[in-house]
Amino acid sequence: MSAERTPKKPREEYRLRTRLIHGSFATGRWDYDHHVVPPQSSSATYRLSSVHRGAQGFIEFATPESRRAPIYIYDRLDEPSRGMLEENLAAAEGGEMAVTFATGMAAVSAALGILTAAGEQIVAHRILYGSTHSLMTSWLPRYKVRTDFCDLGDPESLLRVATKDCRVVYFETPVNPTMELIDMAAVRHFVDRLNAGRPEAERVHIVVDNTFATPYCQRPLAHGVDLVVHSLTKDICGFGTEMGGAVIGPNSYYNHLMLYRKDFGGVLSPKNAWPILVYGLPTLAARMVNQQKTAMHIADYLLRQPKVSRVIYPGLPNFPQHELARRQMTSSDGNFAPGSMLYFELRGRENTVESARQAAERFVDYIAEKSYTVTLAVSLGQIKTLIENPFSMTHASVPDDEKIRSGLQPGGIRLSLGLEDWHDIIADLEDALGVV
Ligand SMILES: *Cc1c(COP(=O)(O)O)cnc(C)c1O
Repeated sequence: MSAERTPKKPREEYRLRTRLIHGSFATGRWDYDHHVVPPQSSSATYRLSSVHRGAQGFIEFATPESRRAPIYIYDRLDEPSRGMLEENLAAAEGGEMAVTFATGMAAVSAALGILTAAGEQIVAHRILYGSTHSLMTSWLPRYKVRTDFCDLGDPESLLRVATKDCRVVYFETPVNPTMELIDMAAVRHFVDRLNAGRPEAERVHIVVDNTFATPYCQRPLAHGVDLVVHSLTKDICGFGTEMGGAVIGPNSYYNHLMLYRKDFGGVLSPKNAWPILVYGLPTLAARMVNQQKTAMHIADYLLRQPKVSRVIYPGLPNFPQHELARRQMTSSDGNFAPGSMLYFELRGRENTVESARQAAERFVDYIAEKSYTVTLAVSLGQIKTLIENPFSMTHASVPDDEKIRSGLQPGGIRLSLGLEDWHDIIADLEDALGVV
């Protein structure tokens, strides 16, 4: 054995940006010594040195203690590349553990899967990622798990909707795509009221999808949330090359998440975990700092355009929930971190919703054809700037009246800022505004 590195300070004392690069690359999960970058693991099954060791592996599987020196048995149970990524994701969110999944939706369904059973209720914000909404309205009801929606912009409204069977309060903040924020500490306050006097097994859990903000801009566990879910496909991968998901939180959820993943089978392939471990998460902070600067420049530019009727970006001084944004969206160094997503609406030639919708279609179609820096595509959080029309595309499964009530207009445009030079992005947006 070669000499182990023993840094003078414990890892937790380094800043997040540094820790996301060096992570736990010396790990009990895998005893490789001289690689600066973890090797790629690719082994469906593992050699066991004795029946006793095999039996021990099954006994220890899915216990939080097993992570220190796991006995690997079979890829679907546990595996080193995924395990190292999980350690670093937990550190990024300030959680005790992370469990990864094949996609963000596999992570969302696992979080809801371990927390609910037939006859129980989920209370969710009325606007959600499209597939999360259809999971709750199309599939979970078949297992007699029902979801009631409310406006968590008014957190107290959850008290009016939650029944004694409620087990989960679920939302995204910023809300995709309207950028409205939900006050996590306030939700915690009202969920504590629901939980008062309830036995442990009937407790309500708060689950937040933190994909939009990323752990660089916001760490929901610190605001009283019980579990965080992520689509790793977005900013955490960051380059648009892999899909993945994660559930992050305290150790008490680890066992059920691992057992659920083993039996439902939605594991993250080590071939997808590796680029997220080596390229994605280590560059998250550097990308977010720059993407967010660009978002501020673009928001500022759009705000000054007469053809633009509304720009919603948490970094703008006129953002309606500016105080909450400053409280909730901060980097782990304490800097305001309003993120890299923005939403805007065009005015249209007449002052009608239909005319605004037509203007947005002309604008986006022009970009789809003529723009170099901005790409018409769903998904978000890549080094390339992406644009889309949420009403007709990503949020098609949310009922129209619900979307309009929540401030999502048919002509609304969502922009995910990438790493291009912001002057070039503005030039392309300016050209497209010319045809509106
Ligand atoms: C993309 C996304 C998901 C789903 O993630 P996949 O990796 O596509 O399965 C869930 N929530 C939000 C907010 C997302 O943007």
